[in-house]
Amino acid sequence: MRVLITGAAGFIGSHLVEKYLKEGWEVIGLDNFLTGKVDNIEEFFSHPNFTFIKYDVTNFLYVKGNLDLILHFACPASPIHYMKHKIHTMKVDSIGTLHALGLAKEKRARFILASSSEVYGDPEVTPQTEDYRGNVSPTGPRSVYDEAKRFSEALSMAYFREHGVDVRIARIFNTYGTKMDLNDGRVIPNFMKQAIQGLPITVFGDGTQTRSFCYIKDMVEAIYRLSTKDGIAGQVINLGNPEELKIIEVATLIKELTGSSSPIEFKPLPEDDPKRRKPDITRAKEILGWTPRYKLKEGLSEVIPWFRERILKKE
Ligand code: UDP
Repeated sequence: MRVLITGAAGFIGSHLVEKYLKEGWEVIGLDNFLTGKVDNIEEFFSHPNFTFIKYDVTNFLYVKGNLDLILHFACPASPIHYMKHKIHTMKVDSIGTLHALGLAKEKRARFILASSSEVYGDPEVTPQTEDYRGNVSPTGPRSVYDEAKRFSEALSMAYFREHGVDVRIARIFNTYGTKMDLNDGRVIPNFMKQAIQGLPITVFGDGTQTRSFCYIKDMVEAIYRLSTKDGIAGQVINLGNPEELKIIEVATLIKELTGSSSPIEFKPLPEDDPKRRKPDITRAKEILGWTPRYKLKEGLSEVIPWFRERILKKE
């Protein structure tokens, strides 16, 4: 079996490279290193079933030979990254998705779109089910990502309906683990850095906004199941951990687990920051037989040594 992974050097992409190689697949990884890191995939370069191509999916996309599966994971994903690379983010999730879908059609490959809980914007209902249509500002600062992911979903469904491409859409909620970019501004790497370095932990707003965090090992398993199950073309599935926490609780938990004496400092809440986010994962349970195993406390305890080593090395 042969899989093409776009965004192979990114956080989730690089974990997928590892998983599919372990499962015996031949893996072709693409990344332009806009936000992905060579460090994330270096260990696979010597693997006989891995080929890496430095490439930007907004260019014409073609690979030789057959493909059974395309995992389309290319795209800046953290708010500071997509707000920095606004136009490129929109290109990746329009032109890039178009190219990846065109290739899936040509190769008769199954297609997994890495979509996002951001398609729900600042949700008015909780938990969010796949049927919820969202509350997204089309012109706000996060729109470059939110609307681009919504367009990617619409385009994927158009390829499913018009060309019969076996498309599956993964709406991925906040995920954390090894190989996260320490400088991408997301809450877990930020709090880890601050707690480990003894600096103030920056909570935006009053910290009552919530998120639900999924451990990367659980996420990779969910994506693998989504990609290998037969007979679910056209499915849209939330993937995430429904354990919902306030950001202030996350700060306290990281402080406690790292044994840090950092003070907590409140900073202004960024514009359009979603107030609540919690996935309804009934569909993932029923269709994929998947449910996350790691509670946030367990996952964080497992990754703290990884963060500590890298953070202290950089000091
Ligand atoms: N956040 C925070 N302090 C930080 C970074 C983020 O309080 O140093 C908050 C942010 O305002 C949001 C939540 O943590 O409410 C998650 O932010 P992140 O950037 O990780 O991802 P998002 O879920 O917003 O895409």
